[in-house]
Amino acid sequence: MEFRLARMAQEANRLQAANDTPLCAYLYDLPALRQYVNDVITALPERCEMFYAVKANAETPILDTLDGRVAGFEAASGGELALIRERFPTAPLVFGGPGKLVSELSLALDLGVELIHVESLTELERLARLLEHGERRQAVLLRMNLRTDNLPSTSLTMGGTATPFGIDPDDLEACLAFLAQHPKIELRGFHFHLVSHQLDADAHLRLLDDLFHQVEQWRKWYRLDIEEINVGGGIGINYRTPERQFDWTGFCHGLERRLAEPPMQRYRIRFECGRYLTAPCGYYVMEVMDLKRNHGEWFAVCRGGTHHFRTPAAQGHSHPFVQLSGGDGEKGLTDTTVTIVGQLCTPKDVLARRVEITHLAIGDMLMFTFAGAYAWNISHQNFLRHPAPIMHFIDDGEDT
Ligand SMILES: *Cc1c(COP(=O)(O)O)cnc(C)c1O
Repeated sequence: MEFRLARMAQEANRLQAANDTPLCAYLYDLPALRQYVNDVITALPERCEMFYAVKANAETPILDTLDGRVAGFEAASGGELALIRERFPTAPLVFGGPGKLVSELSLALDLGVELIHVESLTELERLARLLEHGERRQAVLLRMNLRTDNLPSTSLTMGGTATPFGIDPDDLEACLAFLAQHPKIELRGFHFHLVSHQLDADAHLRLLDDLFHQVEQWRKWYRLDIEEINVGGGIGINYRTPERQFDWTGFCHGLERRLAEPPMQRYRIRFECGRYLTAPCGYYVMEVMDLKRNHGEWFAVCRGGTHHFRTPAAQGHSHPFVQLSGGDGEKGLTDTTVTIVGQLCTPKDVLARRVEITHLAIGDMLMFTFAGAYAWNISHQNFLRHPAPIMHFIDDGEDT
């Protein structure tokens, strides 16, 4: 994505000047999101579709920007289903995730979701019961928890090992036998979401090779009439080395070669990415309120904290940021290392640890990048009851 850091800095400075307390804000660059998502989708080979996993960030302006660009939305709860259907009555919608309530399955049927990604035989049975009376049918994918040699050990493993997600391949025959008895449930294909934080494009291609190969084997063995493989999301953001991101273009070229092979030509491949789509458009800005030394280490105490922006604490990394001036250039610290903390009464309220600075003063601002996914919405917002940050959506209207 093209980062408009100067534009964001200008906006942060303007907000700082307009507020009489130290600044704490989320900034979102909607034109950049538009351009970036267009680029990501344009690079995809034929017969590939990009859905958006709503749980990564469901702020209304973000969803509005994505609607009509992504092929549809993936909801993982009744709340997300209702939110998307209310705002986008005709957008393609699929329903996945573990622990679906009967009431949520029923809502999905009422809202006319295109597909339900089924997580277990029990879920199939519940769905069959809901479809028992009436003419209604429902298309599904079976979410499989496959073990393969090409599962990278990322920091968040979703499958290939004992997890609550998806169906063990040993149980596939039982599911298929059940489906054979329940023709109102139509099996359209298989779903996989086996990794998160995938940063290696070649490794991801190898993993997809395994998935494609396995699906083809199942199709032949069980004589299935299927058309779709959902390969999930999980494309990562490199928070630790932000200049080295996932090679999306290289990945798409590799995928195109694989999909050109005859056995693969029957399938539509669907992605449902969250983090990779929205992380780059968001920024979390904190103003430095205090600089103090404690037992030999410097700390910058800033407005806000991990109750607004839990991403670094959740992932255990020092989050990348750029420094914006705002304070007294004459005062402050020079050429030292500082740990960036927030306002919470816990030593875990750390956003970046022992980072090098050339100069930092009270009143300066730190603008954390890649803060647009799994950030505000995964944070413990009520802990200590500090106010919420300002939510500021920048849209200078250069539509693309
Ligand atoms: C969370 C999730 C996604 C999105 O994952 P990202 O890592 O944000 O791309 C997609 N599919 C399923 C089933 C998920 O649980």
